[in-house]
Amino acid sequence: MDKIDVTKLTQMSNFEIAALFYKYALTNSRGLRAINVGRGNPNWINTQARLALNRIVEFGMQESLQTISLDDGNLAGYTEKTGIAERFEQFLDAGDSVDGFLKQALRYTQDTMQLNQDELVFEWVDGVIGNHYPEPSRSLVNVEKILNRYLEVNLYRGRHLADQTQVFPTEGGTAAMVYLFNELKVSHILEAGDTIAINTPIFTPYLQIPELNEFKLQEFDVSSDESDDWQLVDQKFEELKDPNVKAFFVVNPTNPTSRAFSDHALEKLKEVVAANPKLVIITDDVYGTFVDNFKTIYSVVPHNTLLVYSFSKLYGATGQRIGLIAMHEDNLFDELIAQMTAEDPVIKEAFRKRYSYVTNKPHEMSFIDRTVADSRNIGLYHAAGLSTPQQIAMTLFSLTNLVYEGQADPYVQASKKIVSGRYKAFWESLGLVTQTSDENAEYYTVFSIYKLAEEKYTKKFRAYLEQNCHHLEFEWRLAADYGVVVMDGAGMGTDVGYLRISLANRPIKDYETVGGRISDLLASYYTEYLQTKA
Ligand SMILES: *Cc1c(COP(=O)(O)O)cnc(C)c1O
Repeated sequence: MDKIDVTKLTQMSNFEIAALFYKYALTNSRGLRAINVGRGNPNWINTQARLALNRIVEFGMQESLQTISLDDGNLAGYTEKTGIAERFEQFLDAGDSVDGFLKQALRYTQDTMQLNQDELVFEWVDGVIGNHYPEPSRSLVNVEKILNRYLEVNLYRGRHLADQTQVFPTEGGTAAMVYLFNELKVSHILEAGDTIAINTPIFTPYLQIPELNEFKLQEFDVSSDESDDWQLVDQKFEELKDPNVKAFFVVNPTNPTSRAFSDHALEKLKEVVAANPKLVIITDDVYGTFVDNFKTIYSVVPHNTLLVYSFSKLYGATGQRIGLIAMHEDNLFDELIAQMTAEDPVIKEAFRKRYSYVTNKPHEMSFIDRTVADSRNIGLYHAAGLSTPQQIAMTLFSLTNLVYEGQADPYVQASKKIVSGRYKAFWESLGLVTQTSDENAEYYTVFSIYKLAEEKYTKKFRAYLEQNCHHLEFEWRLAADYGVVVMDGAGMGTDVGYLRISLANRPIKDYETVGGRISDLLASYYTEYLQTKA
């Protein structure tokens, strides 16, 4: 049997390893069809919001031609707000399903949210045309109201925070995270050497970013285990009560383990914040809508929490780059800035100078507005807002959900059904009982090859495998001999031997196949083990 230089692999990032293994998989020794279950990108999309956006573009062109029309209509003018909602209603065909959705969305925004319809339609039309810089910089006015409503309905489980929450739409969750890390540094809320806790296992970049030279934060892992259904045990929350722990970074539901914080864990976190009131919490809730009755940390401890959300996964929109930062208007971050400004004349002067370029009251500039300004190095604050067509796209994705408020949203239900069907198929193909729990998002799943060895064979075989088969060697052979690519769990902070399977991007049949191939590889190690005993 060939070997691979495992030492070399351990120096590479998870994403690099997966890319390399994919190459091996394409030319696997058995000539099997390559199956990559390493990727988290969904293989389904929402069509309604996309088609609705197109209809708004068409209507916008018709409107623009009313004011200027030259070169056979290739050059058009501006749009008029007065009466635009009524003209849009007339433009829409009630018998068409996409137009019908737009009509429903207008009714919802009027009856349930009391939004001025001319203002709203004008914002949509002007937004999709994209002929004005985003104004206000942080978020278009109605976009913010609709995003707030979406977050409240889907993530707060009954708590009303929409009216007190400020939203900054960003280029995906990726930009949201980058802007927040940067702002926590610029505002001196997190300094080099500060201890930050990370809820592991976690999406690898969140382990890497804090270690970078520009941050130099001291990471400390708050880890969960399979034996606790990947929930943090009470002792871990005790560790967070130490005031030396300055921040807590969370992906909830988790990636790779796909678990939402239980109600018990959320209660514990409340206790933590009471004991350590200056704890900064960042929660990335991109998978929240995959769990029934999800409740975000932000709704439990809004004062301390920065919420990141993204439309990438649920709506199949990773290429659009749409996500957001949300935070409470009454928050720890503004308090810490005010306190530093009062106590430290050097910081006070630095803040004054930095923000005086964009405001005549630099000391009153809030954390979220600083985040917006600093995302464009202050100088380009006036052009900092997210592209307006992207802002309107987010609004429309949100409205496909909001029009079902109080009922089940069939798109969300169908999305959950896709991943849970694949989840079940995968576990059954390994010959194991499917583990389910209320907190399980089933978007990814992790399992240990060593544990599998014991469950399918014997404790002794498990010990042999742990001794003689490095987990990366197993993953390499899975690719090179069986054409299957997975993500390594250890690179995300699990114990060695855990593999992550994404349930997002292959048809259900492939998951049945993958489990069979993993079992075959394990069987070949078992044969090898029997030979060593003979
Ligand atoms: C996929 C994913 C996201 C989405 O990021 P975008 O930049 O919005 O595409 C965010 N956080 C985690 C943990 C993810 O796995």
